[in-house]
Amino acid sequence: MEKSKIKELKKVLSSPKKIVVIPHKNPDGDAIGSSLGVYHYLKQNKHDISIISPNDYPDFLKWMPGEEVVIKYDVQNDIACKKIKEAELIFTLDFNSLSRIDEVANGLKAFTGDYVMIDHHQAPDDYAKYTYSDTSMSSTCEMVYNFIDFLGEAHKITAEIATCLYTGIMTDTGSFRFPSTTSATHRIIANLIDYGAKNALIHNDIFDTNSLDKLHLLGCALKNLVELPQYHTVYITLSKEELQQFNYKKGDTEGFVNYGLSLKGIKFAAIFIESAQENIIKISLRSKGDFSVNEFARKHFNGGGHINAAGGRSEMSLEETTAFFEKTLKAYKEELQ
Ligand code: 5GP
Ligand code: MN
Repeated sequence: MEKSKIKELKKVLSSPKKIVVIPHKNPDGDAIGSSLGVYHYLKQNKHDISIISPNDYPDFLKWMPGEEVVIKYDVQNDIACKKIKEAELIFTLDFNSLSRIDEVANGLKAFTGDYVMIDHHQAPDDYAKYTYSDTSMSSTCEMVYNFIDFLGEAHKITAEIATCLYTGIMTDTGSFRFPSTTSATHRIIANLIDYGAKNALIHNDIFDTNSLDKLHLLGCALKNLVELPQYHTVYITLSKEELQQFNYKKGDTEGFVNYGLSLKGIKFAAIFIESAQENIIKISLRSKGDFSVNEFARKHFNGGGHINAAGGRSEMSLEETTAFFEKTLKAYKEELQ
């Protein structure tokens, strides 16, 4: 963010404002972590602040400090629309195009104030007066830390803020192992621990709270893994019947796609999940090295994301989708060598 914009925003935030914070649809640890981090930070300065999520999120995020204040747009529509209408400033976090918040984009038509965007995805849209967009960043939570620091207020980071930001950095970096993890990321993590984030507890609350059904569903997903050695690619499928068999709950398949990448020699992993609710196939794509799953998702599956992690959707059946995927790979044979 430019220095002049930071100064301007600092001035705006120097008196109490009505503020709304919005994470992307199906929010993950980074989206909820950054939203709660901004919430707790702004709360200190007497702003009237609400978080409006497009929809619900997995239980493994529901221990986070302040989580209970999050308004769900899809089920608490009246209050969400009222807050949006009254807002003077809206923070959009961990996304950069209003298409990533579905129905909320309609609600925003009543909003007359300014947007602040903090995000690390490619190709940001131009809707925000204050844009902090940086694709080299590990996570939006890392950027929120920087944002508070740019405002000269890192010393105001409480244990609550530190816990939320630590969680998002941890989840978006695959526990600090993806290439987006830099020495700066680790320095920020060290500071967050000093500010009161309990690292071991956070790892436990996120990763070691699985249900037996979820682990059995993982077993099913791993059994369904298909290897395409000629493309150094693997994919996993989960049909709606399989999801039902293991009492699927939101978030149960989070992280499954990464198991594909753990197979020796694999550069590209995909998971295709049949959503009975949305009547589509939800797709997550991951890669290692410079094969861009963001471009792949944009071009073939109406999606997007980052170079090594992206998502998309298909309106075909599960079988048709995987057949289309295999056919599409032919054009990438060289790139995947
Ligand atoms: P995931 O596979 O974990 O759902 O998403 C991985 C990354 O791709 C995230 O950064 C997410 O924001 C992005 N992503 C997932 N689904 C979509 C989609 O449908 N459209 C776009 N533009 N990005 C997506
Ligand atoms: Mn993120």
